[in-house]
Amino acid sequence: MRVAFLGLGIMGTGMATNLVKAGHEVSVWNRTPGKTIEGARTAATPADAAKGAEVVWMCVSDTAAVETVLFGKDGVEQSLTPGMIVADSSTISPAATLKFAERVRARGADYVDNPVTGSKAGADGGTLIFIVGGAEATIEKLKPLYAAMGKVFFRVGETGKGQTAKIAMNLQIALIYEGFAEGLTLAAKLGVDAQTLLPLIQASMIRSGVVDYKAPFVLKRDFTPNFPMKLMHKDIKLMLEAAKESRVKLPALEIVEEIYDVAVEDGNGDLDYAAIITLLEKWAGVEVKGAAVA
Ligand code: NAP
Repeated sequence: MRVAFLGLGIMGTGMATNLVKAGHEVSVWNRTPGKTIEGARTAATPADAAKGAEVVWMCVSDTAAVETVLFGKDGVEQSLTPGMIVADSSTISPAATLKFAERVRARGADYVDNPVTGSKAGADGGTLIFIVGGAEATIEKLKPLYAAMGKVFFRVGETGKGQTAKIAMNLQIALIYEGFAEGLTLAAKLGVDAQTLLPLIQASMIRSGVVDYKAPFVLKRDFTPNFPMKLMHKDIKLMLEAAKESRVKLPALEIVEEIYDVAVEDGNGDLDYAAIITLLEKWAGVEVKGAAVA
């Protein structure tokens, strides 16, 4: 298929590469020039990338970025023609998604929100999980592209429901990781180090995908971003905004938001969100790795 891929960040780079590898005809665009994908045409603007494409795929930071890419100067809107599909893998506001979809549909194109889970490893390895909202007939057409970039897709409902499910999933990641980080910090302060605690966690019902993925990075003190803290912070704000709109109370998440506020203010936003543990360590006066086994 002819695919325009917009946004070559941590996720988009692997996703676009996998589309090329699967034999699709890909054009790419990134806001900051200089990022390219071997085998893909590099476009000068979103409108240029989208020209003649069957599908326009986006993976950019946030709601404002999606709006700019679609409807800003030289945006995708200029190149929309009937029958085209806009697919968004950014994690953004479900309410804004409905507005964007309406404007895209006014041009005779269709809109699918398909945020992802699986992080950098999933994007690079083509094993992402797509969380999809949109019309069944449109999603059917996207199947070869899901297969190129992911291992499975779940249709959770109509447009906007993909984003809703995605933020509900990330809410759990934020809280599970917070529990893990607080548990490690308390144990370290009391004299049980992470090396000792981890095999116990992994053997017990506390084991989780989040812990499996993040524990090795925490032990190595490697906080290079797989999922930047500022983006988890953005997602927490999306969750609380959606909760407020729908009169849902999320007390634990409200506290976790305050922790992210401080960690980002401290200048950690570009590190992986796993670095939230360093703030807990600072408050506790202990470092999780290196504590002696009692
Ligand atoms: P990233 O590495 O920070 O990349 C962000 C991308 O968005 C870059 O290409 C950036 O362009 C572009 N961008 C930012 N603001 C823009 C604007 N105003 N206009 C146009 N482009 C703009 O982020 P990422 O980790 O790839 O994440 C991308 C999306 O996927 C986010 O919504 C994130 O929440 C979601 N996500 C990430 C993960 C993960 O584990 N990383 C997992 C699931 C979902 P520049 O190069 O010019 O800065």
